[in-house]
Amino acid sequence: MNGSTAALPDEMKCFICRSKGEYGIGSRPVPDVGEGEVLVRVLAVGICAGDAKCYAGAARYWGDDRTPCYVEPPMIQGHEFVGEVIKLGQGAGEMYGLSIGDNATSENIVPCWNCQQCLQGRYHLCEGERSHPHVVFNSVLNFFRCSPSCVWLASDMSRLALRESAFAEYMKFPKGAINYKVPKSIPAWQAAFIEPLACSVHAVELGSVQFRDTVVIAGCGPLGLGMVAAAKLKNPTCVIALDLYDWKLEVAKKCGADVVLNPSHCDVVEKVRSLTREQGCDAYIEATGHPQSVKQG
Ligand SMILES: [Zn+2]
Ligand SMILES: [Zn+2]
Repeated sequence: MNGSTAALPDEMKCFICRSKGEYGIGSRPVPDVGEGEVLVRVLAVGICAGDAKCYAGAARYWGDDRTPCYVEPPMIQGHEFVGEVIKLGQGAGEMYGLSIGDNATSENIVPCWNCQQCLQGRYHLCEGERSHPHVVFNSVLNFFRCSPSCVWLASDMSRLALRESAFAEYMKFPKGAINYKVPKSIPAWQAAFIEPLACSVHAVELGSVQFRDTVVIAGCGPLGLGMVAAAKLKNPTCVIALDLYDWKLEVAKKCGADVVLNPSHCDVVEKVRSLTREQGCDAYIEATGHPQSVKQG
């Protein structure tokens, strides 16, 4: 169904990144929607570790001798979101199966739908040109660079177009975006976790976890905990969760970890060997973001 609800304001409040560590409340025009576009009222948005690193001025975002800057301030970040559909451009309702009042989220990459990679579903490798780039919601490049589930390789960063995202009252899903209706039974604060959870599930899929495996998930932040839950659903012999904080390990147990180990209390490598008849684990998934954990794996 097309159409709109009550009249929208002209301006919206948003949280704007102006420079390293310089963020603040500002205002922007409420986006209008054209053909195939969706406007949502943002209900909830998560703060990614990447958002925090960007705020802190990390070189991987702002550049240094070796890394080009890719942040384009002033910009609105926020890529873990859910919103209520309040306006549908022509054809958008039919295109995405959305109606006014639905809750919805959208994949972070908007494919160009033109190139061979996008047409084969590998839109993270989009070969779209700058004149017809694929779009990435701001800050999602964290996932290209530092995420525990970092498996995407952008073939050419200059082909990406960052667009304004969810740290705002309203947000537009552009034409061609991959949008999903979110059941109202999922509270907004939980639905904002759909995007990070999808990354966790993806990482576990890449681990090709088998029934007889011992799986180690290093790091029990939100991503790691999602991996623990996803790995458990694969029904391996044993899921072992590692973290330096015991309270996080308690949450990992609730998420399905069979064994939890705190590297500050024990020799984790030795312990995993002893649990696996000296074989070691079959899959090790790094979710701490710390180089030491990679070596340990
Ligand atoms: Zn994120
Ligand atoms: Zn493409």
